Amino acid sequence: MKIMVAVKRVVDYAVKIRVKPDKTGVVTQNVKMSMNPFCEIALEEALRIRESGLASEVVAVSIGPSQCVDTLRTGLAMGANRGIHVESTASLFPLSVAKIFRKLVEIEKPDLLILGKQAIDDDCNQTGQMVAGLLNWPQGTFASKVVLDKEKRVATVDREVDDGIETVRLNLPAVITTDLRLNQPRYATLPNIMKAKSKPIKKFTPEELNVEIKSDLEIVEVTEPPKRKAGVILSSVDELIDKLKNEANVI
Ligand code: AMP
Repeated sequence: MKIMVAVKRVVDYAVKIRVKPDKTGVVTQNVKMSMNPFCEIALEEALRIRESGLASEVVAVSIGPSQCVDTLRTGLAMGANRGIHVESTASLFPLSVAKIFRKLVEIEKPDLLILGKQAIDDDCNQTGQMVAGLLNWPQGTFASKVVLDKEKRVATVDREVDDGIETVRLNLPAVITTDLRLNQPRYATLPNIMKAKSKPIKKFTPEELNVEIKSDLEIVEVTEPPKRKAGVILSSVDELIDKLKNEANVI
C-alpha cells in the first residue's frame, strides 16, 4: 500500500504575522517558514501506518516555490521515503492545488491521500474536500483516529464534529484530512536529517502536469484584526457590577 501526504510550506505558527503596508497579503520575506502543523500530523499518521506494516511507501508532496524543497527535506527526515515537488511561484488557491494532486494521484496511484484539515496561512479547509471530489474518492475529514483494514481495503475514521465523534468507513482509495488530536508528530533526529539529504525528490511543473493555475477568486484586501482595548483593574465586585450594568449594558 502506498500513501501520499501533502506537506505545505507556511509561515511558522510561532511567528507574529504582519500585514503588508499595501494590504495585499502578509509579510513572508525574512520570516521563518515551516511545515504546516496539520501536515506534520498527516505525515506522522502515514509513517505510523507504514511502521505498523500496513503500508510500504510514504510519498510527501509539496507545491509552491523552490524553498518547498526544505519542507520536503523535513518530511524526508521525519521518515517519508521520497518527495515530489511541484514548483510554482504563482498564488495557489485550493482548487489549483487539488487539481495538481489529482494529476499526481493519477501518476503515483496511492491507496490513501492524507492532507491537513487546513493550512494555517489561508485557513481555507478546502483542498482535501476538493481533491476527493475531483477524484470521486470517499473522504474522511477532521480525522482524530484512523484504523486501516488492509485485507478489506477499508479505512475507519473517527471525525471530530461539533456534537462529538462521528465514525465513518471508507473504501480505499480514499482521502483523509487530519485534525489536531490525531497524533503527536515526531521530531526529525540528526541522523535522519543527514539521511534525508540523499532521499529522492521528483520535480514537476504545473504545465508538465497539464494544470492551468488560475483562480475565480481574488483577495481584495488583508487587514489586521482590531487591536484589543486595554483592560482596567477594578477594586470591588460592586464596581464590576456597576460597570456591567451602566457602561457595558450587559446585565
Ligand atoms: P487548505 O484547504 O488551503 O486549508 O489546505 C488544506 C491542506 O491541503 C493542507 O493542510 C495541506 O495538507 C494541503 N495543501 C494545501 N496547499 C498545499 C500546497 N501548496 N502544497 C502541499 N499541500 C498543500
